Amino acid sequence: MLIPKKDMSRLWLEKALADVDVRLGQRVQKLNISNDYVRVDNEVFDACILATPAYAAARLLATIDGTNDSTSQQWIATMSHMAHRPIATVYLEPASPWQETQPLLMLHENRQQHDYGQWLFNHHAIPGSFARSLLSVVISDAEALSALPREQAITAVESQVRRQLASRAPLDKIVNAELIIEKRATFEASPFTTRATEITPWPSVFLAGDWLQNEYPGVLEGAVRSGLKSARLLLAQSAA
Ligand SMILES: Cc1cc2nc3c(=O)[nH]c(=O)nc-3n(C[C@H](O)[C@H](O)[C@H](O)COP(=O)(O)OP(=O)(O)OC[C@H]3O[C@@H](n4cnc5c(N)ncnc54)[C@H](O)[C@@H]3O)c2cc1C
Repeated sequence: MLIPKKDMSRLWLEKALADVDVRLGQRVQKLNISNDYVRVDNEVFDACILATPAYAAARLLATIDGTNDSTSQQWIATMSHMAHRPIATVYLEPASPWQETQPLLMLHENRQQHDYGQWLFNHHAIPGSFARSLLSVVISDAEALSALPREQAITAVESQVRRQLASRAPLDKIVNAELIIEKRATFEASPFTTRATEITPWPSVFLAGDWLQNEYPGVLEGAVRSGLKSARLLLAQSAA
């Protein structure tokens, strides 16, 4: 098991995208398609891959002029109704670094008892970690926790950590805490979820994302495989 010391942008993305024309903070608003090109806002390309979440891809595809036939509309509607689940992270800052040596501990989740935490990262035990001496508690499928007022959610997680890890090194009082909830963190991977493929009704527009048909739920592996698949489909098509 590998735990990165850097955040994800510094770990992979900055290097991977060093030679790519990246426009951060630029939200694509409109697509237009003709037989020869795809217009992305005001720029013209041979083709495009929409590597956005399902709801954003649906919104963009709906902006293509002439998207009013019932098949396209139905296809876009399925995509835009894809359900999502939240992930919460609670950061706890102790007054003095926790001397526990394990960097990663599993907590016992029991929502009826308000024990929401699943995994605890002890950053003090990860030398050089970007999060210094913080404890971060990660909660997937965090709907129940998200419904609580912020203070109550943080208190519940701190109380769970203290009870369940009481046999480990003593934990000083918490002087700072932060709760971050990503409401649409992952798409809902259930037997009833309809997942599209990378191919769209428009030959010059492809999709990429973890939410498309692959062997995984909403994880990085699925997203990477989908991106590769989409790029290969596009290249095969332009070669043909
Ligand atoms: C808190 C959290 C923890 C996670 N932990 C893990 C984990 O431990 N392991 C794991 O494998 N996965 C984890 N995931 C899931 C993982 O992040 C996703 O599976 C992965 O990021 C999906 O990649 P993607 O390329 O499909 O979509 P995204 O990473 O969501 O990228 C889509 C991009 O499209 C951009 N976009 C949207 N609309 C537009 C527009 N109109 N114009 C331009 N850009 C647009 C968005 O800004 C975004 O950057 C976690 C997710 C969250 C939120």
